[in-house]
Amino acid sequence: MRPEIDADRLWADIMALAAITDPDQPWTRRSFTPRFREGRAWLAARFIDAGLDVRLDAAGNLSGRRGPAGARTVLIGSHTDTVPGGGRFDGIAGVAAALEVARALAGRPLNHALEVVDYLAEEPSVFGLSCVGSRAMAGKLDDAMLAFTGPDGGTLAQAIRGVGGDPEHIAAARRSDIALALELHIEQGRVLESAGVTLGIVSAIVGIARVEIRFEGAADHAGTTPMDLRRDAMVPAAETIAAVSALAQEYAMAGHGHFVATTGVVEVTPNAANVVPGMVRMIVEVRAETAARIEDFLIRLAALSRDAAARHRVTRPVFRTLSRTDPVACDADLRALLRDAALLRGTSTMDMASGAGHDTAFIAAIAPAAMVFVPSKDGRSHAPEEWSDRADIAAGAEAMLGAILAFDARPIHRK
Ligand SMILES: [Zn+2]
Repeated sequence: MRPEIDADRLWADIMALAAITDPDQPWTRRSFTPRFREGRAWLAARFIDAGLDVRLDAAGNLSGRRGPAGARTVLIGSHTDTVPGGGRFDGIAGVAAALEVARALAGRPLNHALEVVDYLAEEPSVFGLSCVGSRAMAGKLDDAMLAFTGPDGGTLAQAIRGVGGDPEHIAAARRSDIALALELHIEQGRVLESAGVTLGIVSAIVGIARVEIRFEGAADHAGTTPMDLRRDAMVPAAETIAAVSALAQEYAMAGHGHFVATTGVVEVTPNAANVVPGMVRMIVEVRAETAARIEDFLIRLAALSRDAAARHRVTRPVFRTLSRTDPVACDADLRALLRDAALLRGTSTMDMASGAGHDTAFIAAIAPAAMVFVPSKDGRSHAPEEWSDRADIAAGAEAMLGAILAFDARPIHRK
């Protein structure tokens, strides 16, 4: 008999887990809080109900597993933590879908171990670091990060210990047994909804570059300084902001996948109505599927901003890279398995990039990994209005189930 996803049972799990929320601020279950531990206790009980062994690794990742230790593992899951005042589906849908896949496979012999995971602290939490658990699985949670402090002065290491982890032996969380990793997640954007497509097969998780650009002019009297003698830092800054948008549109239209750029921070000094702006500091963020296109964009932007500064007698702008992560490609073989599984069930799919970061970006460094997106109503996310449909989430779980069965039926190549 073909294993089946029970859409109603899956939906009931999402609603039950979402209901474990801070009552004053639905839907909130932030990492390391008592509410978060309550959600995990609920999840651990569901793991036991599903016949899975409950495990907690050194980094505080919670999982339900079947199959011997050391066996090549099919890892599926997402995260149960939320942002403050977030939604009922971000992360939760992926954990519930993974649990439902494990239930559908209960009693069926598999050639791989199967593990449903709730990655610890995907959202930034009070420590300002995202993807804590998946980072550790990839061996990228270092001592400096473990020493990050929250508002009450406690460290991330202490918080990990508080949820049952073992931060002194964080390296034990590192994984080398993963045969494949899958994550279902809500899209958090409007692409699927506007295309009328049920599932997104994620091609890549974008790389993100954040650069600071600083223009220095002269803060002179706004009444007495004639226009031709001004060195107004705001003017080349404004031209650069317009160029960020125009250039990004050009790159997005060029057809090499997802490309977005945003000027989200602008600080003007002295920021007074009667003073010519002496200094403008801005932060431009660029997200794209290939590192080369991010690089190319930044080089062109630097040239444009230099020209703008020169035209307005403002000092050559200072460029500084604040952070940079590389794009991560999803595994082509797993993407094909997901696409085929969806097709067999008559579910429409499209390839798309993830413009947001996810745990899978870290897991992809240690194993073949892929993601399935389900539509978000009006693209809303990280808000109480967040919504995805029961049938779409079930279709995503079906695609993962089909992909896992097809993969598991292949001869195992031991590495
Ligand atoms: Zn998420």
